[in-house]
Amino acid sequence: MTRHAPALVIGGGISGLVCAYALQKAGIDVLLVEASERPGGVISSVSHDGFLLELGPQSFTGSSQLRSLCANLGIVDQLLEAPQHAPRYVLVNGKLRVVPMSPPAFFTSSLINVPTKWALVRDIFGNSVPPEGDESVAAFIRRKFSGQLLDRLVGPFVSGVYAGDPEKLSIRSAFPQLHEDEKTSGSIVRGMLRLAKSKKGPRERSPLSTFREGNETLIRALANKLGSRVVTKTSAVNLYGQNDGSFHVSLEGASSDSVSARFVIFATPTDVTGNLLAQLDPSFAPLLAPIEYAAVAVISLGYMKQHVGHALDGFGFLVPRSSGLRILGTVWNSSLFPGRAPDDHALLTTFVGGATDPAAATLSPEELIGIVQHELASVLSINTPPRFCSATIWPRALPQYNLGHGERLASVKKSLARFPGLFLAGNYLRGPAIGACVEQALAVAEEVKGQLA
Ligand SMILES: Cc1cc2nc3c(=O)[nH]c(=O)nc-3n(C[C@H](O)[C@H](O)[C@H](O)COP(=O)(O)OP(=O)(O)OC[C@H]3O[C@@H](n4cnc5c(N)ncnc54)[C@H](O)[C@@H]3O)c2cc1C
Repeated sequence: MTRHAPALVIGGGISGLVCAYALQKAGIDVLLVEASERPGGVISSVSHDGFLLELGPQSFTGSSQLRSLCANLGIVDQLLEAPQHAPRYVLVNGKLRVVPMSPPAFFTSSLINVPTKWALVRDIFGNSVPPEGDESVAAFIRRKFSGQLLDRLVGPFVSGVYAGDPEKLSIRSAFPQLHEDEKTSGSIVRGMLRLAKSKKGPRERSPLSTFREGNETLIRALANKLGSRVVTKTSAVNLYGQNDGSFHVSLEGASSDSVSARFVIFATPTDVTGNLLAQLDPSFAPLLAPIEYAAVAVISLGYMKQHVGHALDGFGFLVPRSSGLRILGTVWNSSLFPGRAPDDHALLTTFVGGATDPAAATLSPEELIGIVQHELASVLSINTPPRFCSATIWPRALPQYNLGHGERLASVKKSLARFPGLFLAGNYLRGPAIGACVEQALAVAEEVKGQLA
């Protein structure tokens, strides 16, 4: 049977759900198909033994857009904010050191050497011009500042956001604002100050947030609003254009109907999107296929607080690759938000793998838990095994905004312009963070509304 819907969204992660919800709110009859049993994609919260685990993202930066989405969904009262001034740590020479979060703290921190501080002064008072072609994050930081800054702060930060390799990530695509600051102001610091000044009204607070019952609250609220418009256990497998300019999409799984839709929004990872689009035009496949994904393992361990030698007074810590450890970083969930662990217990979530350690994803959950347990024991002075362990491996966790990403996306956009009615949403377009996915999804919904009008 062929169902007719003005708009079909393929993929029910946060990107697809937000786009479908915005279309529904605008009075557009929308259908969303999701391949797996539950919507949410990599956002998944699980309660176990009194611990509240996040198997994917641990929290998100609360923008005004996300807040108003939560208000519309009626879940704003369930939002939790992490303490704003809690320190973040980085592991240097086997010790956890506080990351300087303000310019005065940067200049007085012993984590940063004098040449790096001078490089910052040079940036403030000097002028530099970005190279013509794309530049890696590592090359940018070495050119503007120092190898030490790259190793101790930028590299670990890049692991925290992209699980990426700074030698491969493109500064223009992964951190476009830094590139823009240098291009327009000749200085990163002056560029940042100029941007801050240009923003009118009170400065937006962007606290690290989650919900009382975990990140999945947002997914459940969106899915509830969409109701029967979300069809799970159903994959889009074929796509072709019809004479009237609409599209025919064949489905497989719980529903084997096909859908005829004027608008199709792809909120799927690039391999799936590329394969579907290649059925319309084979030139899409080589454009989307080179976008690499990093695999990440998420290991949650629960300990009795009395067995942890560190006060766990902060967000957690990141680990420079030069340390020789395999863990990329650990979030101290129970120090950030209430209700993450039973009384007297601590919940610690650790990330392993990423673009610099692809072999980690081939290890078994037991091996990964063993590595994390061993490394955490030395960093946090823990002398007993955890009371609780969980390991989740995401083989295609995060898209890599590597060198050439911008050009690849520009080519995809150009090819897509030949098919009005087709749109892209997802974490490889505007940034991998949940907030960026929401922003992109809402922008697509606006475009669809514009075309309908
Ligand atoms: C381990 C990890 C930690 C992270 N940490 C953070 C964090 O702390 N803060 C933050 O802001 N962000 C974080 N992120 C990033 C953020 O969570 C993701 O970028 C975002 O959730 C991706 O959403 P999406 O909808 O674009 O993609 P996905 O969640 O990947 O959703 C795509 C959906 O498409 C479905 N699909 C695939 N093929 C088909 C098909 N043929 N037909 C129908 N459906 C299909 C999939 O089943 C999936 O549900 C993290 C991500 C990971 C993996």
